[in-house]
Amino acid sequence: MAFLIYPCGCKFELQDSSLKDDIVVDDKLKEYPAIKLDFNNIDKDCKDTWNLISEGNTTGVFQVETRLGSIWCKKIQPHNIDELSLIIALIRPGCLESYMEDGKNLTHHCCERKHGREDVVYLNDTMKEILKDTYGILTYQEEAILLASKVAGMNLQQADSLRKAIGKKDTELMSKLEKEFVEGCKNTGVVTEEQGKEIFETIRASQRYQFNRCLALDTTVEVYKDYKYIIKPIKDIKIGDSLTCPGYYSDTKRSVSSDSIRWHELTNVVNIFDNGKQFISTISLSKIDDKSLRKEIDCTINHRFLCSDNVIRPVKNLDIGNILICKDGNYIIDSLWLDHTKAPTINIEVDHPRHLYYANGITTSNSHSISYAMVGYYTAYCKTHFPLQFYTSYLRGAIWKQKPLEEIKTLVNDAKKQDIYVLPPDIRNLKEEFYIENKNIRFGISEIKNIGTSAVETILRHLQSVVEKLEKPITEWKWTEFLVFCSQDINNSAYEALISCGACDCFGIGRRRMIYELKIYNMLSPGERKWIQDNFKEIKGDTLVDILQFCGKVKKEGGGCHNQGRADKLLKLKGELETPPHSTLDNVLTIAQDEEKYLGIALTVSKVDGRADAEKATHTIKDFIGCRDKYGILAVEVGEIKIIHTKKGKNPGQEMAFVNISDNSGSIDGAVCFPNVFAENGELLYEANTLLMQVERNTTQEGFIINKLWQI
Ligand SMILES: [Zn+2]
Repeated sequence: MAFLIYPCGCKFELQDSSLKDDIVVDDKLKEYPAIKLDFNNIDKDCKDTWNLISEGNTTGVFQVETRLGSIWCKKIQPHNIDELSLIIALIRPGCLESYMEDGKNLTHHCCERKHGREDVVYLNDTMKEILKDTYGILTYQEEAILLASKVAGMNLQQADSLRKAIGKKDTELMSKLEKEFVEGCKNTGVVTEEQGKEIFETIRASQRYQFNRCLALDTTVEVYKDYKYIIKPIKDIKIGDSLTCPGYYSDTKRSVSSDSIRWHELTNVVNIFDNGKQFISTISLSKIDDKSLRKEIDCTINHRFLCSDNVIRPVKNLDIGNILICKDGNYIIDSLWLDHTKAPTINIEVDHPRHLYYANGITTSNSHSISYAMVGYYTAYCKTHFPLQFYTSYLRGAIWKQKPLEEIKTLVNDAKKQDIYVLPPDIRNLKEEFYIENKNIRFGISEIKNIGTSAVETILRHLQSVVEKLEKPITEWKWTEFLVFCSQDINNSAYEALISCGACDCFGIGRRRMIYELKIYNMLSPGERKWIQDNFKEIKGDTLVDILQFCGKVKKEGGGCHNQGRADKLLKLKGELETPPHSTLDNVLTIAQDEEKYLGIALTVSKVDGRADAEKATHTIKDFIGCRDKYGILAVEVGEIKIIHTKKGKNPGQEMAFVNISDNSGSIDGAVCFPNVFAENGELLYEANTLLMQVERNTTQEGFIINKLWQI
């Protein structure tokens, strides 16, 4: 058994079992072998993955892909799932928009406390127990519910209606619940009335947060294997295992009770999610007709169970006295506990139509759900170890995003940071979707504007037919062959798009020149073009000039024209090819504009490269990010701009901006333009403008500040 071994220590078994030697990933490795990858078994402590996240390199990393996510990952430096999950909660409006007396938000305070730069003070031990994982700051809704139950003595349902009231911003219900809450605090005596009010304010400021549906690791399920039923802890379950579940007919709407579950079926495990540590609740049940038979289960309060009225309910909607359907009959809930502590959890997904299976003999249902932080880690893991595949699949997925072009731009620029270049399509190897070529990624033709998915097939089919006709692969074609044999059968705007985006650069002729020649060639009559195809082998030379020379005679003189008038016309066109009325040379600006028009982004050049003053730049963006210089002058194109009004300082309410800038080497998101510079030169900051920019490295905030701007 041989492995692919990464510098971080992660290793993957090779698919080809005949290979006996391990392969080490380093700069010299040319080709990656196929590997076996199982997300359940990847290293959750891969240092390179955590470094990638902590460096704020989070484009494409689920839940922290925004600029805000990147900034807080850099500040908080997460190195485990709990810390990443904390960041995901901290960058929601609930924490960002809650300010303490010093004017700084909860997110900031949590970060300071995490790094030990600020003391964590708890009102009392109960509060400490509940809030210790989040440095004394109410971050999760689980915490809000725990507080309501432990501090104000609310039951689960009361606590949950509180959570819902917060989510819906129901002020009337909130003031009613506030009274109940403070009253409850007086009764429990855990905190004073004053403190109770304070805690309620914090809860009010918290926002909706996704719960996870998970079971504790010691939960058991019944596995059918080798004609036997075996009880196993859920942590030992593997994808593909068969578990017992209620008969599928319980899928119907009609009422179901344990009496009607007369048989059990099998359902297959299709997914296993390790959801890390979660707050756990415990349900205790006893059998209705035999109180000595008992069951118990530990799970998150969003976990769902099948009740005797055939409705599946989450724990938070259950109460003492409710009846659950179990494998051996109906059981009644004797107690429901919400625990103080977090425990490791797991979640499995089964292919039963209602996701039902028996856990500890109780009918439970979990639809697909996995912790956001875990998905975030998985995506970061892929980005770290398999960046080519990561970017290719994200680029393919860009069409599903709200702004596909923006998404493609962001990904292309981000990929440059890892020395992965996204290249224009290539006529010699056209594919429908983005694909990996050597260590780079190529555009798929369905992504080119003016070429719809329906045209893709026609183009590919036609190219193949010409390959057969000419009896040579496209790699050996000359430009004139592509012009003569393809320009009539591929729709003209698609044909032009292919040239303009760079797909035909392999012919070694400038893009403008090809477009110009196409226009001239289209002036020939269908009969003349047909004649050229038929007599192509006889033509000496391989330029369009040679072709027109050859064809520009009347038929009896061996040419392709019907009369002298046409022959003269062709020779005139030949003259226009030799001395065009305008320049047919490419320049950086036209290339950049065309690529932007057809691909959504300038790939091979940057608009900036076309500006004479761009030479005054001292660094490229990539160099500047990578070096330690405090100042740099960059020649950049302006991307998205976010203008905000200052909240603090001498004159609150002034305009300032966060600006995305890029050049051919990469991009910087959210460079800060403070009010003084913005007031002076802000009018130059508009999308697609090209500028020289003096940029300062902000060492404390790990960002960049724009000091000066010049139009170029
Ligand atoms: Zn690793």
